[in-house]
Amino acid sequence: MELRGRCHCGNIDLVLHWTGDPHGIPARACGCTFCTAHGAVWTCHPQARLEVTIREPAHVSEYAFGTETAQFRVCTRCGVVPLSTSTIDGVVYAVVNVRTLKGVDPGDLRHASADFDGEALEDRLARRSRNWIADVRVATAS
Ligand SMILES: [Zn+2]
Repeated sequence: MELRGRCHCGNIDLVLHWTGDPHGIPARACGCTFCTAHGAVWTCHPQARLEVTIREPAHVSEYAFGTETAQFRVCTRCGVVPLSTSTIDGVVYAVVNVRTLKGVDPGDLRHASADFDGEALEDRLARRSRNWIADVRVATAS
């Protein structure tokens, strides 16, 4: 199943090749202060594939805080955060903000909340490498 998403102005465009249950897409509201402020709700599947196309890289901020092991890709033109990435042992992992996906039946989303405050750094990286999308391509549109 192919899911498409983008930031509001279209600078960051993504195609998520979803291999998990099409009627059970996880949608995790992270309780951290950044995600709470943005209303970001994340999904991932270790066998999914993600293609990201950025039109103007100069208008993409890679915001990091706390452990600084994850980069929130924020479009600085429209302020939307379609994805977050984490590079672990040279591999780029990603999660996608389901709020930026188009055409997803809300009934197919499995909402849950998640709070990783206080999680040890090595546990955090191990969890990401287990659960996050491991096949991520980020390209610049020419
Ligand atoms: Zn934008």
